[in-house]
Amino acid sequence: MKLHFLGTCSGTEPMPDMHHQSWVLETNGVNYWFDAGENCAHRAHTSGINILNTVALFVSHPHIDHIGGLANLLTCFHKLIRRYKLQFIRNNTLEIFFPDLPLLQAIKLVAYSGREIRLRYTLNEHRLEDGLIFEDENVRVTALHNRHLVGTEEEGWLAFSFLIETEGKRIVFSGDVLSTEELLPLIGDSCDVLIMETGHHDPSQVMEFASTHHIKNLRLTHHGRQILENRDYYEALAADYTEKTETNVALCYDGKVEEF
Ligand SMILES: [Zn+2]
Repeated sequence: MKLHFLGTCSGTEPMPDMHHQSWVLETNGVNYWFDAGENCAHRAHTSGINILNTVALFVSHPHIDHIGGLANLLTCFHKLIRRYKLQFIRNNTLEIFFPDLPLLQAIKLVAYSGREIRLRYTLNEHRLEDGLIFEDENVRVTALHNRHLVGTEEEGWLAFSFLIETEGKRIVFSGDVLSTEELLPLIGDSCDVLIMETGHHDPSQVMEFASTHHIKNLRLTHHGRQILENRDYYEALAADYTEKTETNVALCYDGKVEEF
C-alpha cells in the first residue's frame, strides 16, 4: 500500500510549501481519500494520482483545515469525467462519509455554483457514526468519535478517528483528538501505522505515546507551530526514537509518498 500525504499543515495561516490536511491511501490500484483540506485536488492530480480511482472519501470533522478543498475536489471529479468522458473506477460512484450532512449540502452548493447540476457520477452520502462504516475487498474502515468537537449521541458526533485495515496491516488515523488516549480502542493490540496530528499536541508526548504503545510506524502530520518553528529539533528527536525504540517515527510534509 502507498500513503500519499497531500497536505500536512494544521489550520494555521498560509505557510510556505504547506497546505491543510489531506491524504490518500492507495491499495490494489484503488484510492481511499481521508480529509480534503485546501489544494488537495491540485496536489493529487498534478502529482499523477488518478483521482477517479477513488472509491470512498472520509472526512474526520468539518473544520476548514479538513474540508477547505472539498468543494473544489467535488468539482474536479465532475470536470474530469465530463471533459475526458471518464468514470469513477467503481460503477461511476463515490461514497462520501461526513459527520454533518446538512453542511455537506452547503459544500455541494458551493461546488456547483449554487445551481442544481446534473452530476456525471453518483455521490452516495453517509453520515459518520461509530463502528464499521465501510468494507470492500481492499479495506475495512472503523470510525470512533473523539472529543475534538462537541456532539451528542442523538444529534450525531462531529469528529472522528479511523482504523483502516488493509493488506493485513492496521492504520490508525487520528482526525484530531483532544487526548492521544482516545485512540487506544482503535489501536487495540497492534498498529502498523499511526497517522497523528501534532498541531494540538506536544510532538514529544506523541512520540512517547507511540513508543509506549508499541506502534510500529508513527507518521506525524497536521503540523502546528511547535514543529514548524523547530523542525530540526523534532527531526532529530524522531531519528532518536527510530534508533532507540521499536517505533519508526517520521515527520510528513506535502507530497510525501510512502510505501508499506
Ligand atoms: Zn485540524
